[in-house]
Amino acid sequence: MALSPIERLPVELIQPIFLLSGPNLALPLVSHHIAAKLSDDYIYHTVCAEYLTANQHPRAEQSINQSRIFSAQWMTWDFFKVFLVKTYEGNGCLCGKSPEEGCFDAQWPPEWKDATKMVFSRSHLPELSWVKCRIPAKLLHGPWTSDKIQFLRFLLWITPMTVDWADAEVRKTALEGKKEAIMEKNLEVVEMFNHNRRLGKTPGLPMVRFAIMEAGCDRSLVYDIMATARAWGLRSVGWECAELDAWCNDRIEAGDPKGKWLQLKLQELRAQEGPASNDAANSGSRSGGVMSPDTGQYDGGEDDQLVINKHKWNQVSQTISSFNVQVVIFWWSYLTAPVGNVLRFMHLRCRRSTGFFQLLAPLMECPWTLGSFQ
Ligand SMILES: [Zn+2]
Repeated sequence: MALSPIERLPVELIQPIFLLSGPNLALPLVSHHIAAKLSDDYIYHTVCAEYLTANQHPRAEQSINQSRIFSAQWMTWDFFKVFLVKTYEGNGCLCGKSPEEGCFDAQWPPEWKDATKMVFSRSHLPELSWVKCRIPAKLLHGPWTSDKIQFLRFLLWITPMTVDWADAEVRKTALEGKKEAIMEKNLEVVEMFNHNRRLGKTPGLPMVRFAIMEAGCDRSLVYDIMATARAWGLRSVGWECAELDAWCNDRIEAGDPKGKWLQLKLQELRAQEGPASNDAANSGSRSGGVMSPDTGQYDGGEDDQLVINKHKWNQVSQTISSFNVQVVIFWWSYLTAPVGNVLRFMHLRCRRSTGFFQLLAPLMECPWTLGSFQ
């Protein structure tokens, strides 16, 4: 097919036209001939500076273009790191300000490997915290390389970006991505999905069965999935499952210590009441049994270890549930009528169960929306 006049323009003309157009990111998307002429680091950096660090376009347009930028092939973890260094190295913090302009506790160099080590708060936000767009599908599925994991964790920590759950393909990708991580026995990724509600629903019994019966019951993954399911409301009789019981019996007969271990964890979860605990996974509630990390322990060698990590995501959730939300709910419930009657009842019923408050956690999960999470 013959090229259109604009597709025949040389790079020297198409690049300035693109920049003068907004830059309008629809342009490279309509023609791969135009896209090829705009494939240039200078263009990429200009586009990122325009839409990620400056707020001079209508909200909807800005958001669409931010999503396009992150889903572009050229937006790799390596490119993004270079862009952030070029943009923020001068002032020495991801907040984009100098100490004179209000920066304190500068976060530099950025914690590329584990962004959750960076401390931000409501009064010290990273500049990208206002980037409101979609997490690209390319970061939601396996194979789970270290680049992909670091990139996804970084975006979740410093921006409020979300998955486009209205898109059936993206929804499927995210769900399969989590299952791929379980099959790959990638604890880092499974923990990210378990403890971050922007990456999907909390795990339930079907996910527990999948991790055990189809993915080989990696104890660290299974423990974290079960603890998360328990923390978000799966209690006592909710853990009854004939298939899991049969799996345990089969493994016990085969002499596999995992069978006995899992049987004990299920018994602990099926109890009506557990000990009071401040452990994040157990939510500090006595309603419903809790798992003990120590009971049933055995030395399974290098390939069968039980690793239990503490997460910053959990700390955020705990802080929200134990303080912010309780304060808000308390005053709202007692001061607002007639809604107050309903909320007062819910508050009294649920005040010993942080599970209720955790239902509200996704609303405030971004760490910089809280001043007290550290
Ligand atoms: Zn700063």
